[in-house]
Amino acid sequence: EAIATPKSQARTRESRVDVASEYVKERSGTKALLNLVVVGHVDAGKSTLMGHMLFRLGQVSSKQMHKYEQESKKLGKQSFMYAWVLDETGEERSRGITMDVAQSQFETESKSITLLDAPGHRDFIPNMIFGAAQADVALLVVDATTGEFETGFESGGQTREHALLVRSLGVSQLGVVVNKLDMVGWSRDRFNEIVARLGAFLKQAGYKEQDVFYVPVSGLTGENLTVLDEPKLTEWYSGPTLLQAIDKFRPPERPLNRPARLVISDIFKSVGGSSGCCLAGRLESGMMQTGDKLLIMPLNEMIQIKNIAINEVSKGSCFAGDQVVLTVSGADLSDVSLGSVLCDPSQPVKVTSRIQARIVIFNIDIPITTGYPVVIHYQSLSEAATISKLIAQIHKSTGEVVRKRPRCLTKQTSGLVEIEISRPICMELYKDYRELGRFMIRANGTTIAAGLVTGIL
Ligand code: GDP
Repeated sequence: EAIATPKSQARTRESRVDVASEYVKERSGTKALLNLVVVGHVDAGKSTLMGHMLFRLGQVSSKQMHKYEQESKKLGKQSFMYAWVLDETGEERSRGITMDVAQSQFETESKSITLLDAPGHRDFIPNMIFGAAQADVALLVVDATTGEFETGFESGGQTREHALLVRSLGVSQLGVVVNKLDMVGWSRDRFNEIVARLGAFLKQAGYKEQDVFYVPVSGLTGENLTVLDEPKLTEWYSGPTLLQAIDKFRPPERPLNRPARLVISDIFKSVGGSSGCCLAGRLESGMMQTGDKLLIMPLNEMIQIKNIAINEVSKGSCFAGDQVVLTVSGADLSDVSLGSVLCDPSQPVKVTSRIQARIVIFNIDIPITTGYPVVIHYQSLSEAATISKLIAQIHKSTGEVVRKRPRCLTKQTSGLVEIEISRPICMELYKDYRELGRFMIRANGTTIAAGLVTGIL
C-alpha cells in the first residue's frame, strides 16, 4: 500500500512534550470545557436553580422570561417559572438530537459549561445516569427547608442515591448546593448542620474532602447564584457565589499524550467536488495533523488526513476533546460504519465482542440473571448483547466484592459481569480512555444500567 509510514506513530512516541506545548500555544486564551450534571431529590429545586442561573447569565432574554412568567401565572404555577426555562430548552434541543437529556450552555470566567439536566421526575434515575455517565463534575442540590433535607437524605430519598451513583460513574468533584435557604431565614446553623451531615456521608461514599464544596443559595430568589447581596446571608457567609464555585472545578484532563482515538459519528461526501470523504467525530485522545496516516478499525484500512475542520474552520491540527470534521482519502469508505474508530496505527484501538464490566443497576423490575438479553449503547452504536456471566455483586462506592457468583443482580446494586456483544466493536478500558470505556445498557426500551469496561476478553 502507498500509505505505509505512520507519522503519528513517531510523534506520539518521541515528542510527547511537544504535543502538550503545541496545544497550549494554539489554544491559549480559550476556555476549558466542562460537562456538569445536576442531581438531587425530586423538588429540591434543580430546574429552578439552573433556569434562574441561565436567566441571570443572559442565556434567556427578559422578553422570554416575561413570557414564562405570564404563562406560569395563568396556570397558577408561578413558582415554576424558572424551571420552565429548562423545559423549553429541552424541547428545542431534543429536536434532531437523540438524547433524553436537555442541554444548556453557560460560561464562567475560565470555563465553558455544558449543563446536562435531567428533566422529568418519573424517569429521573435513568436520565440522571445518562447525564452522569457523560459528566465531568456534578452539583448535588439539597432542600434546606425544615424536614425536607431530612426526607431527601433518609432512606428512600434520592440525595444519597444520586451522590453514590454519580461517584460510581467516575465523577470525583462534587458541588453541594444548599438550596431554599430563604425558607429558613438564611440560617447559618441550618447550613452548617447540612454540611456536617452530608460531609460525613460523602466522605464515606468516596469523595475527597478537598473535592467537595458547599454553597448556600436560593434558586427562587436568585440569591448567591451570580451575586451575593442578601444581608442576612452576608452576615455570616463571604465565600464564592455558585457561579464562582463552579468556575473552580478542575477541568477534565485532555489525554493529549495518549495514542490518537476518534470515534466516527458521521460520514459524508466532501462538498466541492474533491474525491475525499468526510468523517466527523470527537477526538478522544492524542492529536492529529493534516497529512497524518491513520487506521480505521474494525475495517483495518489506512487513510490519510487531507483537511481538519473545527466549527467549519480549517486547522492544521486537532487535539483531544475537539469535535472535528476530517476530509480523508486512501480507502474505500463505503464500508465504514458509525462507531468505527480512527486511531494511531502503531497502537490501534481494541476490537472485541466480549468484555468484563462493572455495572450500576437502576430501578429495574426483573433482576439480571445469566443470559439476560440487552442492548449496549456505546458512543453512537447500539448493539444486541447478552449478560453472559455474573462474576460478583460489588459495593456501590468502594467496589469491594459483596458476594461472589451471585444468582442474580437486583435493582440498585452494582456488579461485575461479563458481556457478549453480537459482533466485534472498538472498545477500550475505562481506566485507559474514560470516554471509550463507558456505556449504557438497555432492555425493553428502558435504560437499566450503566457500565464501565474493566476488561477486554
Ligand atoms: P426539581 O424537581 O428539583 O427540578 O425542583 P423544581 O425546580 O421543579 O422546584 C420545585 C419547587 O420548589 C417549585 O415550586 C419551586 O418554586 C420551589 N423552589 C425551588 N427553589 C426554591 C428556593 O430557592 N426557594 C423556595 N422558597 N422555593 C424554591
